[in-house]
Amino acid sequence: MNNSGRVQIITTGGTIASLPRENGDVIATLNGDEFIRRMGVNGNIEISESVKIGSFGFNYETLRDVALDVVNALSSPEVVGVVVTHGTDTMEETAFYLSITTSHIKKPVILTGAQLDASYMASDGANNLRDAICAAQVPALGEGGALISFAGFLYNAREVTKIDTTAIEAFESLNWGPIGRIDKDDVWISRRLSTKTSMKIAVPSSVALIRLAVGMTGEEVRKMAQGYPGVVLQAFGRGNAHPSVSDEVRRLVENGVPVIVTSRCMRGSVRPVYGNGGGKDLERAGAWFAGDLSGEKARVLLGLMISNQIHCDEMIKILGEYSHP
Ligand code: ASP
Repeated sequence: MNNSGRVQIITTGGTIASLPRENGDVIATLNGDEFIRRMGVNGNIEISESVKIGSFGFNYETLRDVALDVVNALSSPEVVGVVVTHGTDTMEETAFYLSITTSHIKKPVILTGAQLDASYMASDGANNLRDAICAAQVPALGEGGALISFAGFLYNAREVTKIDTTAIEAFESLNWGPIGRIDKDDVWISRRLSTKTSMKIAVPSSVALIRLAVGMTGEEVRKMAQGYPGVVLQAFGRGNAHPSVSDEVRRLVENGVPVIVTSRCMRGSVRPVYGNGGGKDLERAGAWFAGDLSGEKARVLLGLMISNQIHCDEMIKILGEYSHP
């Protein structure tokens, strides 16, 4: 590996660091030198542990703590970039959180992991880690926030999603495709990413994420939104809902609870188009539209904006930036 600048590897657990126990449970186990030895990577790297859990066990405090570790590593002048090893289940949310909170430091932050645990002879972890270390040394990848490197592809945190429970090509950006590829030691970038407003590292406020399904009315939305300081709706298609939902949205907004509309669809943007309960009515009721941002990521963004006490007008501006590439 052509490794000049130092890369800090921050481990958090996940399948890449997991081994099966005697009872068959696969548990995050490896850290430090043992992790490095098993992955077979070398060069100018340093390793530290943030947490050692499956990413399904992350909470918002974990996101904050990982971000603090990332910023701490990036602030060292010798470190050219950081690799975060992570479970695949919620990697896209951590990547997005890191994008928002660490992108003011113009050095690459690359997340990676594995679909096969470390007991497999042919685990994908070693290749993924090797690729991520290569990417972390490319200064141009420090310009647009954190990235996920997986199965040879590089993805923008805002766009990427886990699309497969077991396949080695676990991630996709269904709207925009990968932003680059890694071919041995060569990193090819097809698209530059824009810099967006960054925010202070904070524990996001917990906001309601409500996925609509046929038969769900304003009454369900009212119950599910109860007590939350913000709501993200994963609405139908273009951003539509049962006609009774718009009354509930109006009530929430009048009470100072921001409501963001995203889509259940995996591809395409929301936009106010339809009346009679469609997006036009949700917009009239005061909801904001999140473009092609997923519901899960809109939840992170809204939670961070609330905990950072960002003013309503500024929230609309920031949401606008993150709603499109
Ligand atoms: N399947 C997951 C992984 O790839 C488990 C987790 O998210 O930690 O690591």
